[in-house]
Amino acid sequence: MIGCGCAICSSSNEKDKRLRSSILVKSNKTTLVVDTTPDFRTQMLRENVKKLDAVIFTHPHKDHIAGLDDVRAYNFFQHKPMDVYANDLTQEALRREFYYIFSEKKYPGIPNIHLHTITDEPFKVGDIQVIPILVHHLNMPVLGFRFGNFTYITDANKIDDQEKVKIKGSEVLVVNALRKKEHISHFTLQEAVDLVEELKIPVAYFTHISHQLGLHDDINKELPSNIQLAYDGLQIEIEGNKN
Ligand SMILES: [Zn+2]
Ligand SMILES: [Zn+2]
Ligand SMILES: [Zn+2]
Repeated sequence: MIGCGCAICSSSNEKDKRLRSSILVKSNKTTLVVDTTPDFRTQMLRENVKKLDAVIFTHPHKDHIAGLDDVRAYNFFQHKPMDVYANDLTQEALRREFYYIFSEKKYPGIPNIHLHTITDEPFKVGDIQVIPILVHHLNMPVLGFRFGNFTYITDANKIDDQEKVKIKGSEVLVVNALRKKEHISHFTLQEAVDLVEELKIPVAYFTHISHQLGLHDDINKELPSNIQLAYDGLQIEIEGNKN
C-alpha cells in the first residue's frame, strides 16, 4: 500500500507484493482476463500476454476497471476491437469513466471496444463457456464466474443459496478474503474458509488480500493445506470445458 511501512508492505517475499485482483483464463484457442485493474498494464507485461481475446468484468469498482484504457495495445497489434463483457451496472460506469471511448468523434489511437451485455445467464467467449455467479458486495451485485471446474469470485461478502449451487462441484475455487477483521463488503479470512468448507471445494486460494491480513507464509501456516493464499503470478491448470 502506498505510504505504508508495515511488515507486509516492507516484506522481501515476492508473495507479499500484491497487485490488484485479476485473473487470466486461457484455453487452447481463447485468452481472456477477468477485470482490468489499475495494474493491468503491469500484469500483462509481466506475464508477456501477446494475445488477448476478451475482457469480462465482475463489477464497476475502480480497482477492477481502471486499466481498460490499456487494451489499446491489443487493438494495435490484433487490428480489431476488444470484446468486453459487462453487465448493465458496469457498463454505466465504463461509459462514465471512459467517456472518450464512447464519443461520437473518436480521437485517433483511443481504445476500441465491442461491448457485450451479460446477465446471470451463461455465455461463451471463443471456446470458453462462462457461468456467471451473482454474489453480494454489501449492496452491490457482483459477478463471479465459473469456467469448467474452476470458479473465481472476488469482492463478495454474501452468496445466496441458489448461487452456491453453481459453485458446488468446482475443483478449484479462488475467492476473496480481505483480512481477519470484519469488513462491510468483503469476506474475512474465516468467512472465506467457512465457505470453502461448506461447499466442500477440494482446493481453494484466497485473493483480494489486504496488507492487514498478514504475511503470506504466516497465514498459509494457519490455513488447512488445501486452502492457501493466492499470490501474483500463481498458475493453476485445470481440466477445461469438454466441448
Ligand atoms: Zn502495509
Ligand atoms: Zn469492489
Ligand atoms: Zn475490489
